[in-house]
Formats: sequence, structure tokens, C-alpha cells
Amino acid sequence: MNPQTSSHENPHKTIHLGIDLGGTKIEVAAITSTGECLLRERITTPKHPNKQTQYEQILSSISKLVDRAETDLKQTRLTLGVGIPGTIEKHSQRVKNANTVCLIGQPLQDDLEFLLKRRIAIENDANCFAYSETHLGVGKETKFESLFAVILGTGVGGAWVVNGQVISGANGIAGEWGHNCLPWLDEKDKPLQNCYCGKQGCIETYLSGPGYANLAQQQFGITADSHFLFSKKDHDTSAGQAYKDYCLRLAKSLAHVINIMDPNCIVLGGGLSNIDSLYEDVPKIWKNYIFSAGSKTKINTQLLKNKLGDSSGVFGAALLGAKVI
Ligand SMILES: [Zn+2]
Repeated sequence: MNPQTSSHENPHKTIHLGIDLGGTKIEVAAITSTGECLLRERITTPKHPNKQTQYEQILSSISKLVDRAETDLKQTRLTLGVGIPGTIEKHSQRVKNANTVCLIGQPLQDDLEFLLKRRIAIENDANCFAYSETHLGVGKETKFESLFAVILGTGVGGAWVVNGQVISGANGIAGEWGHNCLPWLDEKDKPLQNCYCGKQGCIETYLSGPGYANLAQQQFGITADSHFLFSKKDHDTSAGQAYKDYCLRLAKSLAHVINIMDPNCIVLGGGLSNIDSLYEDVPKIWKNYIFSAGSKTKINTQLLKNKLGDSSGVFGAALLGAKVI
């Protein structure tokens, strides 16, 4: 479907809508050009056993959210950016690598542009998070030349922003570090876990919330979710060791990134970014794995907690949408 080009003109210049399309919820936010949030609403992502039906229900939900936001704001045809759990394949313009599988293969951008009668921006959700933290969060005051954003949640993702711009990459997968194998493997990292992507030993199988809980169950016989495990790290020997192992694996995985791109800043998002001790404990370890001329060399890369909340991609989506004319 093609958008109706005659109605594409005249987007509102100062209020921008963002949508964060996730597997469990869809969120809309309206922000001003300076990042002031005017409106925010979340709904549950539709579920349906038939993928095409679910896809159409998602389109309809986004359309209703946009309509409702514009009614509340007394505006029409605001600029819109949409963050998705996947990427748009450049050649086909269809969604790929989405863990909300009903999106895979769909011409999501065309369909939304037709439905909403405007041009929109669509970007990977990790890229949206990186963009929002660069311009409204950790990078607002301190301008970082390069920033690597990490999502530690149900899955593990990553994204690059260099000189204020998202780096999508030749294949649209820049920053997809979660599906590299865990580097500098120890015996305790084996056997390698199967990943949904078809490979074994992916970083995601160690550092995602479900991955962490799974390993704690296998190695220490603890049955608990990742948040409960972290809350017990100072009170239970096994939970404490599981936490140390997590820090070591995160430090190695981030050192791998630093050795390749050497960013000024690494910002964490996703539910596990709320573990405050990570920001002190991980940099103490990563220096052992970062290539350096001497052990006393200061590592300049900063590991920072997000400033806009663990799921701020919706603001980045809105900012990216504002660039679409
Ligand atoms: Zn994988």
C-alpha cells in the first residue's frame, strides 16, 4: 500500500508523536521539540493465534492511539516515529529480525503511512533508545562523540549513535551484539545455551533476564526470576556468586565492544539496567579485557544508567519522526 501523498504536507512543527511497539505493550508519547513530555499512554499489544489477524490488530491499535493522542492534543497529522522490535530490510522494505513474529515480512511502514496518511519514521527499538538518551538523556549535557546503548531485558540488544546520528549499518543490524558469542569463555560458561536465533552461546543467553534466571537454575539450583535473584545477591551465597558471574560476563561482553568501537559512553537500558551496583562493579572488571598498553592505563569509556527510564525509546522514536518531512 502506498501513502496518499496529497495529504502528507503540513506536519505540526513543535509537537512530535512517538510509538514504541513492543511484544507486550504499545506506547504512545507526545513530546515538544525540547523533549517535554505532553502525553503518554500504554496499551497491551494485541495477541491472536493467526499472525495476519494479529498484525492487522496491531495496525489498528497504533491508529487508535495516534487518533486519541491527536484528539487530546487538539492537533492533526503530527509527525510520527515508530520504534519496532526488529528492523526494516532495506531491499524489500519489510520487517525482519522481529521477536514479535507477526511483524516479520510485513510492509509495516507502507501500511502505517497509508493508514495514518503521513510519512513516518520506523527504527529499531534499541536505536530509538540510543537516540533518546543521546539527545534528551545522558548525552543532553555531556555531548558524547560516540555512544553505545545496551538493552538488558527479555532480550539483549544494542545500538550505535555517532556524532548524534544513529548508525543503522549496511544490513540494518548495527549494534546487534546480543547475538555474538560470549567472548573469553570459561568452563563455567559451558555448555553453551541454544539461542532462538539458531546459534549457541549468544550473549543474550547469558545476559538477558530469562538467560540469567536459567543459568542460576542450572548452575546453582535456584528457581527465581532475575529481579528476585539480584535482590538476594547480598544475602545468599549462590545468588551472590550468580551476580558475580553476571558482572564478569557483562564486563567481557562490553570490553569486546570497546575493543572494536571504543565508545565514549555505554548507556544501559531494559529492566536489568535498574541494578545500580552494575555501574560500579562492571568497570572494575572490564579493564582486564580491554586492550591497553599497560594495566595502569585509565579507561575513558563511561558506563552510565539511562536518564529517561529503562524504556525511553518512545522519545527517540518521536525525535526521529520529527526529522521526516
Ligand atoms: Zn542468538
